[in-house]
Amino acid sequence: MSRQVTIALSGNPNAGKTSVFNALTGARQHVGNYPGVTVEYKEGLAHHQGRAVRVVDLPGTYSLTAYSPEELVARNYLIGQRPDVVVNVVDASNLERNLYLAVQLMELGVPLVICLNMVDVAESRGLKIDAGKLSQLLGVPVVPTVARQSQGMNQLLAAAVELAQSDPEWRPLNISYGGDVDQGVAEVAAILQGSQERHGLLSARWLAVKCLEGDQEVIERVEESPELAGKLLPVCRRVAGHIKSTMDDDPDSIIADYRYGYIAGITRQVVSSEREARMDLSDKLDRVLTHRLMGPLFLFSVLYAIYNFVFWASEVPVVWFEEFFVWLGGAVEGLLPPGVLRSLIVSGVIGGVGGVLGFAPLIAFMFFAIAIMEDSGYMARVAYIMDRVLRMFGLHGNSVMALMVGGGISGGCAVPGVMAARTLKDPKARLATILTVPFMNCGAKLPVYSLLIAAFFAHRQAEMLFLLTLISWGLGLSAAKLLRITLLKGQQAPFVMELPPYRAPTMKGLLIHTWERTWQYVKKAGTMILGVSVLMWAAMSFPGLPHEQEAAWQKRIQAAPGDAARLDVEAGRARDQLAHTLAGRAGRALTVFTDPLGFDWRANVALVGGFAAKEVIVSTLGVAYSLGEVNPEEAQSLSKRLAAEPGWNPLKAFALMIFVMIYAPCLATVVMIRKETGGWRWALFSVLYNTIIAYLLALAVYQGGRALGLG
Ligand code: GDP
Ligand code: MG
Repeated sequence: MSRQVTIALSGNPNAGKTSVFNALTGARQHVGNYPGVTVEYKEGLAHHQGRAVRVVDLPGTYSLTAYSPEELVARNYLIGQRPDVVVNVVDASNLERNLYLAVQLMELGVPLVICLNMVDVAESRGLKIDAGKLSQLLGVPVVPTVARQSQGMNQLLAAAVELAQSDPEWRPLNISYGGDVDQGVAEVAAILQGSQERHGLLSARWLAVKCLEGDQEVIERVEESPELAGKLLPVCRRVAGHIKSTMDDDPDSIIADYRYGYIAGITRQVVSSEREARMDLSDKLDRVLTHRLMGPLFLFSVLYAIYNFVFWASEVPVVWFEEFFVWLGGAVEGLLPPGVLRSLIVSGVIGGVGGVLGFAPLIAFMFFAIAIMEDSGYMARVAYIMDRVLRMFGLHGNSVMALMVGGGISGGCAVPGVMAARTLKDPKARLATILTVPFMNCGAKLPVYSLLIAAFFAHRQAEMLFLLTLISWGLGLSAAKLLRITLLKGQQAPFVMELPPYRAPTMKGLLIHTWERTWQYVKKAGTMILGVSVLMWAAMSFPGLPHEQEAAWQKRIQAAPGDAARLDVEAGRARDQLAHTLAGRAGRALTVFTDPLGFDWRANVALVGGFAAKEVIVSTLGVAYSLGEVNPEEAQSLSKRLAAEPGWNPLKAFALMIFVMIYAPCLATVVMIRKETGGWRWALFSVLYNTIIAYLLALAVYQGGRALGLG
């Protein structure tokens, strides 16, 4: 004998809850009040296959916040009494608005059955609702009913009892509320997770969302522990303040927007209307911007426009920055006597970090463009468009955001990209996504591309970056497909793409977002890149030439007739010296592998250093060419130096860009992959998989190009 099953009915006022309740329980019901409040309480018994099932009619609510006594009663009943199953009665003729409560029930995590009521009304209005599809997308049973005529009641009861008997766990639905809010939620949830408090069975994330929504009841509960409140509330205030200043709105309305965006993604796939539906501005825009043909065309135009804008806008400031570092290097050279210290500062610090910082304006403009896409809501549409493409390659709709965060439109970071793959429930699709993210053009590859594009493709900058973006998607998706048909074979799970309403970005919000990310770039250049750059400098400076050799060079320098000849000899000495150093030897040893790709030993050293972080490729080339520099009069920016270097040509540069795009993810990403996949296996796999693909492609590009007579 099993215990009695309790079903709670929840739903918007007038969705037909009472009708369902009456149809299920007949006369077997009693009415009372919830203790302390005037909210009515009704309970009754239904019968299913000879067993009594307790049915509780919760007060009608539009939401599960603590705005009204009804909402509070409904929520506290669900949390405190934990009914076996919640039946959400939904007015099918008003699906969009009614699903708002359903989404909140799913976010809370209750075992849910949807009673799709009033399908007769919906039909009379020309609305057709695909209940099967709705059930598939939401991942909960959906039973169409006409409660007033007791239609569908047996099926409803059967579905509820079946779910109850499967002893379902509470499984909270996580949806994205956009970058700013998601980050805030994660931060607040981390504090709640770390606190000693027990939250019953509520998830830390749910509580965090409630705190950010300004839910009085949850906040009062938090305040019961002064220690927790002391940590939590300032963070909530800061996050809310940040959201207010970037989005010009409160967290709760942003969160509501995204819930509706999630619902819009569902109703789009589930509701078909015989009559012209009422459309607001967002719907009208989406008609065009997510259109099967116009959508991708518009997206391509946007990307192309962005790249043109970024190169155009950053051209002058990048030159200023470059010239500033050239000037700074010269100034320090004049101030310090020749020797190790001068070399360290001029080559190791200024030559290395300067190269990376020089591209800060370009990075800033790129982030500005990305901020416009994100803040306006267009990014969600990009994801929507890409979703169709991704499915063909065995990735999941949820992969899109991970790939976009990882640098889908150039500029981004694989570390949060890999983390963003958490929203994927299917482990194989998730793994495929994690392994695809490093193919995207993250913000650290951008300065490498910019350097090589400025040096060798100066007349076609935007086109080149556009091409690189297409290549990275093409390769990433092919690599994903390869995994999905071999190691990671599996079925596709259904998916809801969020379509939050468009909003006009504010200048303030755009500037804050641009600044935050640019500052990350600058900070990284000043810390990690600086450190690695100094290490690379040391590797390229020591050991020095043996005494006799050095003495021989000095003799030749003394003997050189005239300045020009002396500079020639000095350049020879610098080359000899570099070749003798640790990095010089290692780089040379690697040319066994990289000769067929056209990379010289300096590029090899840079690529090895680039494993720490891809910007290091730029800083290392900066150090190498700065160390090779013998005539301070001729000091110039790194891109000009590369362009003038006889060993380089556009074909080699292109092969190098392709290699940099794909080869081993940076250290931080590898560590994150390890963390997210729970072991070194996939992290190491991604290092090898990517490097092998990179090698083969760069080889094909270089050798193919040469066969065609390029380079
Ligand atoms: P509650 O506020 O959720 O308890 O909703 P009620 O059960 O009181 O129903 C509101 C109104 O909708 C009543 O007039 C019901 O008769 C009517 N109603 C309920 N279910 C249906 C249905 O499936 N079809 C139609 N046409 N009317 C319904
Ligand atoms: Mg009622």
